[in-house]
Amino acid sequence: MTWTAAKQAARYARLRAAGRCVTCNGGMLPEWHGVRCPSCVERQAESRSSEAAKERRRPLAAKYQRDRYAANREQEAKNQRARRLAKKLRGECIRCSQPASDVSIYCPAHYASEKVRVRDQQRRRRGGGALPR
Ligand SMILES: [Zn+2]
Ligand SMILES: [Zn+2]
Repeated sequence: MTWTAAKQAARYARLRAAGRCVTCNGGMLPEWHGVRCPSCVERQAESRSSEAAKERRRPLAAKYQRDRYAANREQEAKNQRARRLAKKLRGECIRCSQPASDVSIYCPAHYASEKVRVRDQQRRRRGGGALPR
């Protein structure tokens, strides 16, 4: 856990134990469920479904996943293999929950992006460098 994450976790635990909203530190009424006040729950739901907010979170989420993978490479690789095998058996794209196309383990969209990725990789290995798409 990073220092910031540890600080955030401590704040969350402190507010939760004190019966305060863990987001805005406001008072909580007994009839409210969960750890956030209704206005924070609403704002969180809005932010979850907003495309702009998703785009802002994307690089952070990618970094989080990369760090998590790097911290425990072997176990994460094992989990990934198991997850991909289960998806393959269900006939799902291994990158998302869409059905896989007949010719590959990817859905048509990820099949296309994977083709581009592999082509660029081969070009780099030949020493060409990636060309603009
Ligand atoms: Zn709140
Ligand atoms: Zn896909």
